[in-house]
Amino acid sequence: MRYFSVLFLFLNTNVHSLFSQSTDLFLPYNMLRAYEKGTRSFDGRPGPHYWQNRASYQMRVKLVPKKRRVEGSAIISYYNQSPDTLRLLRFKLAADRYRKGSLRDDDVNPNDVGEGVRIEQLTLNDKAVAEQERIRRRTFLDVDLRKKPLLPRDSLRIYVRWSYTLPADKNAARECVCDPTTFFVPYWYPQIAVYDDIRGWASTPYSGQQEFYHDFADYDVTLIVPKGFMVWATGEWKNAADLLQAPYLERFLLAHRVDTVVRIFTEEELRRGGVFRPQNPHVFRYQATQVPDFTFAASDHYNWDATSVVVDSTTGRRTFVSAAYHSRSADFYRVARIAADGIRLMSFWLPGYPFPYPCMTIFNGNDGMEYPMMVNDYSVAPGDPTNLTVHEVAHTYFPFLMGINEQEYAWMDEGWASFFDFFLADSLTGRKHNLRGYAAVAGNDFDVPPMVRSSFLRSPAYSVASYSRPQAAYTVLLDQLGYEVFHRCMVEYMNRWKGKHPTPYDFFFTWNETSGQNLNWFWRPWFFEWGYPDVGVRDVQRDSSAECDVIVIERLGNLPIPIHLQINYTDKTSEIVHLKADIWKNGEQRYAVSCAPGKSVSHIELGNRLIPDRNRTNNSWKRN
Ligand SMILES: [Zn+2]
Repeated sequence: MRYFSVLFLFLNTNVHSLFSQSTDLFLPYNMLRAYEKGTRSFDGRPGPHYWQNRASYQMRVKLVPKKRRVEGSAIISYYNQSPDTLRLLRFKLAADRYRKGSLRDDDVNPNDVGEGVRIEQLTLNDKAVAEQERIRRRTFLDVDLRKKPLLPRDSLRIYVRWSYTLPADKNAARECVCDPTTFFVPYWYPQIAVYDDIRGWASTPYSGQQEFYHDFADYDVTLIVPKGFMVWATGEWKNAADLLQAPYLERFLLAHRVDTVVRIFTEEELRRGGVFRPQNPHVFRYQATQVPDFTFAASDHYNWDATSVVVDSTTGRRTFVSAAYHSRSADFYRVARIAADGIRLMSFWLPGYPFPYPCMTIFNGNDGMEYPMMVNDYSVAPGDPTNLTVHEVAHTYFPFLMGINEQEYAWMDEGWASFFDFFLADSLTGRKHNLRGYAAVAGNDFDVPPMVRSSFLRSPAYSVASYSRPQAAYTVLLDQLGYEVFHRCMVEYMNRWKGKHPTPYDFFFTWNETSGQNLNWFWRPWFFEWGYPDVGVRDVQRDSSAECDVIVIERLGNLPIPIHLQINYTDKTSEIVHLKADIWKNGEQRYAVSCAPGKSVSHIELGNRLIPDRNRTNNSWKRN
């Protein structure tokens, strides 16, 4: 069959009509190219010509707490694995969000606005890049390569030296100068933007709202901080033995082997001295491979708890899990335990895929924000930190393991993180979450189809399309497929696309193929259409020949949801009827449920906490 369709491609001049035959979901015209070129395929697998670029970063960074200054240098090797000749090289300079005149989604403290990133030196293949070959626009630094383009399968050696000042505002998004000697430092180095098969160079600037879309890279980073500071970072800490005194090193190593939480050091121990070997300044080394970013944090007075958890039962592999926090954060004493328990559930239940990273640190900062192996979470005390912790850690799968383009399809990661966090936190706390949050806003004018590119959206449209609507959709999907098929699809999707950049279509097509079902009846309304979910009880009729009552359920909204009926009879007995969302797959408007023969219905309740339903006033019926 595939052979014929290839032949057909050469004969057919109307490429769009050909490809629309391969899916009846709307496929944007500009995404067809990927299918013509064979980088993507209609079965949901990476195409035979799939490619992506990669880099390796060898960096040195000095944090100067008194000046809030970050001073770095990097040797970057960038590999052009695309079939294209690159006439431009694009760096992302996220800290340019604070550059005077830069575009921003939210107000920032005017005192933090300044020069942005200072590029002190930039060379390509040991040749200095002239000022006129650099274009600074929004949060990008573009380098003109027209004189010496980067050819396919060739690489570039880049040297860059830079510095910038972290914002002083404690409420700055992402970054945290949490107190004069505590820092969380994300998006801090000139990172090469993604050049991909869909849109070429990624062109969505960092204006505050957008999060990840980065290529996979290897990192070897040396971090220099004043004496007395600890550094936590993406990757494995390679020189703990150089820095920690014997008793603390023992605790650090013990935590790698045991399931219980070990207090590696406390604020009091740090203040007393004797945690670190004499070294001035402190030089830390962290390494990570195949990750989409590198982040670090530092403090001279935070507590550090750690434990580890088995994430792969076949190999016995463990992940080292840490919490670093201020003594005042009463909730954080529990966070290492929660994170480890969450990672165990992620590895064996939802998504049910071995946690991919060797370590994970939850740092007590000012946000709820994920990075590879690092999280910046505010303290929710006196509240319960379970949901927030589990949500941010679950991002490890999406967008990190899977390389999601969150800047354009945030529902491909935020929807999943929200879905996992509800189920996992319920399992850890005994609470029972509901989907009333989405139901309350479904169908409003800001409830846009999630397939609208996220970079075009502002909240509340952004948050509904990225979080609550896809979270509801995935919950309905789990009900539809059942855990076993759902899990099989999830594992297949991850195996196909880990370390790559899946688009929404790679997700839809993979789940269609793996489930053995064409789920387009589900994807289309939930992801491509305006609308809302609403079912109601229309009527209860008597079928006199069968001597039973028949409940007529009406579909009033276009988003398909299951029917869950609690039927109470006049003889005080009751039953529950649950029908999956596919009863509506052919556009049915009504569905008749036959009740127990010989009995008479007294009252009915339709729906449950996991079924989002916009209008619940039509969900009850009572016999008069
Ligand atoms: Zn999230």
